Amino acid sequence: MPDGEAMRFTGTVVIKGKKMGRPSERITLHGKGLKVSSATITRHDKKGDQSFEIERINLQKSFDEIRLHAKEKLFPGEYTVTLEFEGEIHEVMHGIYPCNFTHDGVKKKLIATQFESHHAREAFPCVDEPEAKATFDLTLTTPRGESVIANTPAKEQIEQGDKLVTSFETTPKMSTYLLAFVYGDMQFKEATTKDGVVVRVWATKAQNLAAFDFPLDVGVKAVEFFNDYYGVPYPLAKCDHVALPDFSSAAMENWGLITYREPYLLVDPETTPQSMKEVITTVICHELSHQWFGNLVTMKWWDDLWLNESFANVMEYVATDALFPEWQIWNTFTSHEGLSSQRRDSIAGVQSVKTAVNHPDEIGSLFDPSIVYAKGGRLLNMLMNYVGVDDFRKGLKVYFEKHAYGNTIGDDLWTALSSASGKNIADFMNPWLTRSGFPLITIHQTDTTAEISQEHFLVDPKQADPERIWPVPLLASSTKIPELLDVRSTSITLSDNEYVRLNQGAVGHYIVHYTKPEHAAAIAQLAANKELTPAERLMLLNDSSMVAKAGLASYLETLQLLQHYSTEDSETVWDILSVIIGDARRFIDLNDKLEAAIKAFIRGFIKQQYERLGWDEKADEPGSDKKLRATIIGLGVYAEHEEILATALQAFDTYKAGRAVNSELRSIIMGAAVRHDVAGAFEYLLHEEETTSNPDLKQELLGALTMTKSTERIASLLNRIKDGSKVRQHDVDTWLVYLLRNRYGRQQAWDWLRDNWSWIEKTFEGDKGYDSFPRYAASAFNTRKLFEEYKAFFEPKASDIALTRNITLGIEELSTRVTWLERDLSDVQTFFA
Ligand SMILES: [Zn+2]
Repeated sequence: MPDGEAMRFTGTVVIKGKKMGRPSERITLHGKGLKVSSATITRHDKKGDQSFEIERINLQKSFDEIRLHAKEKLFPGEYTVTLEFEGEIHEVMHGIYPCNFTHDGVKKKLIATQFESHHAREAFPCVDEPEAKATFDLTLTTPRGESVIANTPAKEQIEQGDKLVTSFETTPKMSTYLLAFVYGDMQFKEATTKDGVVVRVWATKAQNLAAFDFPLDVGVKAVEFFNDYYGVPYPLAKCDHVALPDFSSAAMENWGLITYREPYLLVDPETTPQSMKEVITTVICHELSHQWFGNLVTMKWWDDLWLNESFANVMEYVATDALFPEWQIWNTFTSHEGLSSQRRDSIAGVQSVKTAVNHPDEIGSLFDPSIVYAKGGRLLNMLMNYVGVDDFRKGLKVYFEKHAYGNTIGDDLWTALSSASGKNIADFMNPWLTRSGFPLITIHQTDTTAEISQEHFLVDPKQADPERIWPVPLLASSTKIPELLDVRSTSITLSDNEYVRLNQGAVGHYIVHYTKPEHAAAIAQLAANKELTPAERLMLLNDSSMVAKAGLASYLETLQLLQHYSTEDSETVWDILSVIIGDARRFIDLNDKLEAAIKAFIRGFIKQQYERLGWDEKADEPGSDKKLRATIIGLGVYAEHEEILATALQAFDTYKAGRAVNSELRSIIMGAAVRHDVAGAFEYLLHEEETTSNPDLKQELLGALTMTKSTERIASLLNRIKDGSKVRQHDVDTWLVYLLRNRYGRQQAWDWLRDNWSWIEKTFEGDKGYDSFPRYAASAFNTRKLFEEYKAFFEPKASDIALTRNITLGIEELSTRVTWLERDLSDVQTFFA
């Protein structure tokens, strides 16, 4: 019985199960922050039921345990344990927590749950580990007149005074971290899949109902898609998708009750840009994929978290591509997951995809988006390519049928895929999953031979492991080259003198260095002629920049290669062009004279695409052109391209006058007005930020407001961060990182972060996003001075195991970045001069 007004809850839990092991006086459950007022223990056997007197109930805080000590020994057997408990509802986004919102001027709240990874123990006593699967019968007492939903449909609802008592149907056998409920003043839209699964989209009444249609449609189609793809029907009768005003991550795959942060579910037909629609579709597909991979079959322990997340990461693209082939979402896979994973995975000390977990506080730091999601997804895609889609699906069906409602380790999946494909999948995948980093493949080709070798790549090569190798699918353009390179180096005799290309399709998680200048030039020419696919063009440039950052070549070569891309019209490839330009802009912090030269370069570089795309959307243009227009105009505004900037500022007047502007360009238009200090713009947008309930717009306003150059305004934005009525907890890190990335706000934001660290610690400890603070700060800094300050501040905090990994990596990342920027500064100056 949660009470959102008094911010507390009371409950009774009846746990039936088998006591294993040796006889002892003790039964131990997980519990955190709970008070237990009474407990009973009953043993069932052939002779009947036997009750045991309880001597004491001991709360072992350091282990999150509730220990029931009986007066006599409890022998193994069947038991029922009943506990009466109570707890408090806190303004943290885990356990049972409130989501605040305003509707028609009235402040309201929803009560929601977030139990992954180990927060069910904050709501009720239980065995809170993924392997401890059980069925659950939930009964909730909530205010009458409010909606209430949980994992399964309601079985019975009884009104009692001003209360509503709802009993839900028994769940399938499942892990505690997937339980959920939400109640409050909500509205929904409903549809049904071909097989009769009821799909609903829910949100508060402050949200526009029209924004429910798109996610509802995707929710239905994606269940139908996975039913067919996995060959196993969706295991529940219904699937709810709920947009929550306060939510720590993007979404959570609770079985049958998926929760989202509002901007990751709702699609306003008038205002949500194409780019966000694509993100939302991948998020919905990701969470729905988990309903099988993760929920139906669950990892035994958190060290195999990749079985959940890496898999969902790749399946979100498989499903989105099936639903919207015109989006060419696999290109986005390469630019998002490919770049993010390689950049992170090249830092010394990074974790492997499969990582040991010893303490619950470590679990949060496992959810590294670049590793367990992006890299793991890349590796599974590489595997899918290696075994072929048909055998991959055959293997999955075997896996689900064998392990449904159970728990697995990675080898169970490899066994299923090996039997389907006839290949030894464990030998292929385990080295990739258990070794951090990836190989640099070097190819030196002469007229008659190609020498191909691999080595462990790090942006700090001194720290690379000289022993580490992988079974590398070479994906070569010549059939003379072997399928796998599983030794350090090999030499192949070639008869024709055509230059070989490796990593065709860019699906391999490695980078390629063509050592002979003529060879590299020939490949660059193929990119310029667009004889390579967009994914290949993108990775060619990425590989070059990675090699430069490691000091194996100069960044000058990367910038020269960039010039081959001046006619580039693929939005995907422009993702890497923007990244390279963004990296070049880091040099400005070392020498601000570079700024004018870089801006001039950008103005020339975007010319052709700006002329092609202009400002106005064409009726029949693909979604990728809508997104590319935003990239080009965004670069133009930054580079102060005369016509682009003037048009953006004019468009702001249109926006302020209440007329619609292109939703894809809206954030750039607002950002330009703030950056260039259009009179009244900042105040106008700040007011809008504080009053709108449109989740897309709110995110964009955050982006625009943090563009300001004004010291006073930056200070005023920082001052709002701790005010819960102005900045939601889940947005704190975003406000901070945007200000850190703003050159004009960096020092103030950094000072603020240091001055308010104890507040951050108190507010976010135990939250999955806690370790994003050291990560984001490291991503923003470029100078040795800030590197030293970062080290001095964070190094002493590295003993906090929730932060250890991101602080160690942050220091490493900054050390190599600063070294690189100092090393290549003069070459970069020469290029832009
Ligand atoms: Zn996930």
